Amino acid sequence: MRSTSSSDHDFDLFVIGGGSGGVRAARMAAARGARVALAEDGALGGTCVNVGCIPKKLYSYAAGYAEAFEEATGYGWQLPAAPTFDWQHLKAQRAKEIARLNGVYQNLLDGPGVTVLRGRGRFVDAHTIEVNGQRHSAEHVIVATGGRPFVPEFPGREHVLVSDAMFDLEPFPKRLVVVGGGYIACEFASIFNGLGTQVTQLQRRAHVLTGFDEDLRHFVAAEMGKAGVDIRFNVSVASIRLDGKERVVMLDRGQDLHADAVLFATGRVPNTENLGLEQAGVALDETGAIRVDAQYRSSVPTIYALGDVSTRLQLTPVALAEAMVVVDALFPDPKRRGGPRQPPDYDFVPTAVFTHPNVATCGYTERDARKRYGDDKITVYCTEFKSLRHTLSGRNERTFMKLLVESDSDRVVGLHMVGAEAGEIVQGFAVAMQAGATKAHFDRTIGIHPTSAEEFVTMREPSVG
Ligand SMILES: Cc1cc2nc3c(=O)[nH]c(=O)nc-3n(C[C@H](O)[C@H](O)[C@H](O)COP(=O)(O)OP(=O)(O)OC[C@H]3O[C@@H](n4cnc5c(N)ncnc54)[C@H](O)[C@@H]3O)c2cc1C
Repeated sequence: MRSTSSSDHDFDLFVIGGGSGGVRAARMAAARGARVALAEDGALGGTCVNVGCIPKKLYSYAAGYAEAFEEATGYGWQLPAAPTFDWQHLKAQRAKEIARLNGVYQNLLDGPGVTVLRGRGRFVDAHTIEVNGQRHSAEHVIVATGGRPFVPEFPGREHVLVSDAMFDLEPFPKRLVVVGGGYIACEFASIFNGLGTQVTQLQRRAHVLTGFDEDLRHFVAAEMGKAGVDIRFNVSVASIRLDGKERVVMLDRGQDLHADAVLFATGRVPNTENLGLEQAGVALDETGAIRVDAQYRSSVPTIYALGDVSTRLQLTPVALAEAMVVVDALFPDPKRRGGPRQPPDYDFVPTAVFTHPNVATCGYTERDARKRYGDDKITVYCTEFKSLRHTLSGRNERTFMKLLVESDSDRVVGLHMVGAEAGEIVQGFAVAMQAGATKAHFDRTIGIHPTSAEEFVTMREPSVG
């Protein structure tokens, strides 16, 4: 179904960026009969497929085998020799799988007839985009150009790596310094620690995972420490110099660290530079992200922005959900039950951090819940335990779970976990929370025994203090 006023333009919709959000928007709009073009100047699939979620999770699985080998002996397995790890093999396997996914994305676009332009898109004006010197006009434009790693200015900045480079690192680092305390820093610290690297993680604040529940943050940092990551708090890098192939990291406290590689995972910035946004009249916010309204419209009503380039949560499923809202608004599907999709409920977006052990969370942190509902309106249920698996595994990893309940409504407004498969577990509870589940619903739910997840439905006594 074409938008009625599109006849003057080459396309009904032009999408800049072929990552999670852009590909979803382009292919769904084309499947509804719109004439769609998509420009991508890198690999199809964007950050998530090429240098984000997917390769990261594959490497996290690889790291997990180290724990499995260690635990196996507790269950009677005798390994013929100490296991060895082949980094080249893992990299080649990953590259093969990512190439396969790039092909899948190409087919997803080709199938419904999206015109894929391999090159950098740039606005000439609000309805004209130039790619490889050719101009294309479109009724509507979606900017889905994502973000990129940010490294602050400091002496020796040229000697550091960003997360994009970690997947093909050569040679495999024996000693790695990870700078940052966000989820990307914590995940890479856990991955390389699991693969056998000696990892030192430097965090300028007093805790990791800012924005997550405070108890959870302390718990996961302690578990990562027990697993072997040397996490240091309240410390910054003053400078880095090369000594042969070695990086010498000078800390602000005056101490030196020696490493084979230094990863700076110190945040990401939106890709809004050199896009011609000013020519098109698109306004940015103070972080350089595209400012959008509740329906992802920029300051120019025919130009939309979604995913990491705008101001919301930087997660693949969020970019996908935002893409569907825009597609439904521009090219409605009359057969869709319930009418056009509405923006997701950003307060209850579940998310995971693939540290070892995993973190997963849905809803408010304790601090935010108290701020939102009132200090005396929040009841906290909290537990920590050694899971059944580790009674024989010989490892002393512990699991943490926390529920926050708003007392007037009895609604569960926060659910947090550190432990094996936390992401798999919290995804299911997120459905219940989205549906407004109360503590009484949790209490009425029968647990699956023996699992760790059952603890979420058997916590009866509020925590004190
Ligand atoms: C290390 C890492 C791990 C992550 N892990 C997870 C995870 O476990 N779970 C999760 O949900 N999210 C994860 N994310 C975040 C997730 O990858 C992003 O939220 C998601 O990819 C955003 O999708 P997007 O469509 O907005 O942008 P992207 O996927 O970044 O796509 C943007 C695309 O636009 C292209 N582009 C940019 N400018 C132009 C231009 N001018 N012309 C043409 N093309 C252009 C880029 O090449 C890119 O392909 C991770 C991110 C990183 C970096």
